[in-house]
Amino acid sequence: VIVGIPKETGEHEKRVALVPETVTKLTDLGLDVIVEKDAGRASNYLDEAYQEAGATIKEDRAEVFSSADLLISIQTPPEEDLHRMPEGSILICFLWALQHENTVDLLKDRGITALGMDAVPRISRAQNMDALSSMSSIAGYKSALIGANELDRYLPMMMTAAGTIAPAKVLVLGAGVAGLQAIATAKRLGAVVEAFDIRPVVKEQVESLGATFVEVPDLDEESETEGGYAKELAEDEQERQRQVIHEHAKKSDIIITTALIPGRPAPLLVTKEMVHDMHPGSVIVDLAAEQGGNCELTEAGQTTVVDEVKIVGPLNMPSMLAYHASQLYSKNMWALLNHLLEEGKPHFDFEDEITLNTTITHQGEIISPMLKES
Ligand code: NAD
Repeated sequence: VIVGIPKETGEHEKRVALVPETVTKLTDLGLDVIVEKDAGRASNYLDEAYQEAGATIKEDRAEVFSSADLLISIQTPPEEDLHRMPEGSILICFLWALQHENTVDLLKDRGITALGMDAVPRISRAQNMDALSSMSSIAGYKSALIGANELDRYLPMMMTAAGTIAPAKVLVLGAGVAGLQAIATAKRLGAVVEAFDIRPVVKEQVESLGATFVEVPDLDEESETEGGYAKELAEDEQERQRQVIHEHAKKSDIIITTALIPGRPAPLLVTKEMVHDMHPGSVIVDLAAEQGGNCELTEAGQTTVVDEVKIVGPLNMPSMLAYHASQLYSKNMWALLNHLLEEGKPHFDFEDEITLNTTITHQGEIISPMLKES
């Protein structure tokens, strides 16, 4: 079996799908690994390290695609590359199949077996394969650092000879994987942290990190789907939520927003009126920028200043920590490969919940139940 690692081509993309440490594990199993020249360069994994791990470096990108039995990447490769993949070969990457019907059709029609890293079920048994969580955690960490960096104030309380400085106040909206990591990081930097999420189960997690949970009265208890994701709030609930956030926004130095609802645009949590009422110099870091933003004034990929409030809409945050993001993605991938490989060969058992949900296309058919239902 030949495993191919291409260089990522996406804008802002600095990660690489497999790091040399994982390449060693694959070559030890008897697999051959080919790596496009400079594939890991942007994340500081150099070609020499891949060679030492037993991989062969290929100058020709097309050859990586046409000769790999198992092609592993972070983002979905461009169509022209997919056309080079042989029938029966396997692609594993973030596919976002529901949003990319044409790509799914292409993979199906070409007889490529495609697995989505975003489709790994969020169950305990699959935790070590869950790249969404490892990447979200990086985004959460980085969002707190960006907030701290953009703020013209200290985060911790400072007792200086010139007097005492009060700690900064950070409000985190949405306390999933990213939000919890943002809370933890802001706490470590010494800020006073408040957080809000519509899923009541999160309260305990927020409090265990030393932050205060903001309560919005009379929210539907059933705000969570079976999979643990959020449901969209009713219009009157959204209005109540905004009133509460408005009061807390006025007192915050940094607001970090991370709220997402699967398959829907990001919920609007911070309106322009709230921004207007924040004090000059305060900062909003909108992690939902790529999905339309949680703040009305966010511009994806930009930092804007409105009413003396800085609004940051970062793109591809995991890529900002490309070394560790690549390492963690690679570990998630290794766990998934271990699940699939039998005596060094990929094996598809669709009785298995992880294999079934993760596989989008196989032998010209759609496999993913999520995709079939839609
Ligand atoms: P996500 O990125 O889809 O959403 C981020 C957060 O935004 C969620 O906590 C959501 O409740 C919140 N949100 C949505 N609308 C909101 C609103 N209007 N106001 C405030 N907050 C709002 O979530 P995620 O981080 O991917 O996590 C989703 C779920 O998956 C969680 O229950 C998490 O515990 C679970 N999970 C389970 C596993 C596992 O068991 N292996 C792994 C990772 C995550």
